[in-house]
Amino acid sequence: MNTSNSAYENVLIAVDLSEGTGQIIERAKAIAPNADCRLVYVLDPVHYANANIAMSPVDIMEQVRERVRSELLELGHKHALSEHPHMVAEGHPASTIHSLAETLQADLIVVGSHGRHGVQLLLGSTANAILHGAKCDVLAVRIGK
Ligand code: AMP
Repeated sequence: MNTSNSAYENVLIAVDLSEGTGQIIERAKAIAPNADCRLVYVLDPVHYANANIAMSPVDIMEQVRERVRSELLELGHKHALSEHPHMVAEGHPASTIHSLAETLQADLIVVGSHGRHGVQLLLGSTANAILHGAKCDVLAVRIGK
């Protein structure tokens, strides 16, 4: 982990694939142009546990995981990110991102100020939860309307 004042080297970009995602990625690249940037999306099993359709939660999650994986790949190409694999993780978004950041020794986490849940708040709830408890710097990219 980079604890000095030198440039960021290892950046984790948390994306929920909502409208502002491209903006978040471009801001991360601008602030850390030479860093390894990885995209991470966290699938929260809670959202699928009671889905009222004919498929099991495990099968739904597998389908979502596959779709997200290909969207991350596409975004990586579109924004010319480094070749590090992007990740579809599973769990509670904020705590999963905290532990991933530690495991990967990220020196910066980049999030959007708002995503799918937070439009009416100053800072979305996931963004806020990521900010609290992170052991490295966190950049909240202001997502315009
Ligand atoms: P929210 O707090 O839900 O409005 O989302 C704010 C920001 O948190 C988003 O722009 C993303 O950067 C991040 N975020 C929210 N949900 C997720 C998720 N499931 N996986 C990864 N990042 C997320």
